[in-house]
Amino acid sequence: MKIIAIGRNYAAHAKELNNPVPSSPVIFMKPDTALLKDNKPFYIPDFSSDIHYELEVVLKIGKEGKHIQEKFASNYFEEIGLGIDFTARDLQSRLKEKGLPWELSKAFDQSAAVSTFIHKYSVENIYDFNFELDINQQRRQNGNTKNLLFSFEKIIAFVSQYITLKKGDLIFTGTPEGVGQVLAGDHLEASLNGKELLNFHIK
Ligand code: ZN
Repeated sequence: MKIIAIGRNYAAHAKELNNPVPSSPVIFMKPDTALLKDNKPFYIPDFSSDIHYELEVVLKIGKEGKHIQEKFASNYFEEIGLGIDFTARDLQSRLKEKGLPWELSKAFDQSAAVSTFIHKYSVENIYDFNFELDINQQRRQNGNTKNLLFSFEKIIAFVSQYITLKKGDLIFTGTPEGVGQVLAGDHLEASLNGKELLNFHIK
């Protein structure tokens, strides 16, 4: 399986990192070795002193497809979950300054924490639900999918023009504003419409 991630998909987040709002989705990938599941702890890697959390809604692809039209794209995912796109922001800034790919700052081991998945019909409207991240019992991020720049269907249609999607692939759909640093000892809890899906520690 592969993990595809979308950058700058909430205008307020693009703004907080001084990035322009994109006219087409910004895509990057994480290898399967980035997966962190079952609420296992995240270990701060040696190569960064500024690891950021980015809470995101994650789609699980349910069947293989390429060149998927937007109007059919909703048939390609049934389950949604939450994930943390861990980012070595210091490394990313150095790479961005040099105009180099972000890969190392986004694709490292454990950089894709994912929750269990729920059926998309368990939320009333997939384009109007809340998802939030608390760290040490303090609210840090509070997103709503009504603020997505590119819808889930647009993302699937766009990505599948270039890359075949396969059953089990995951798509991180971008983070709302409020990203920040995690430190050893932090306790992260994330919920979707009030239902807790992630609960793990930083070590
Ligand atoms: Zn992200």
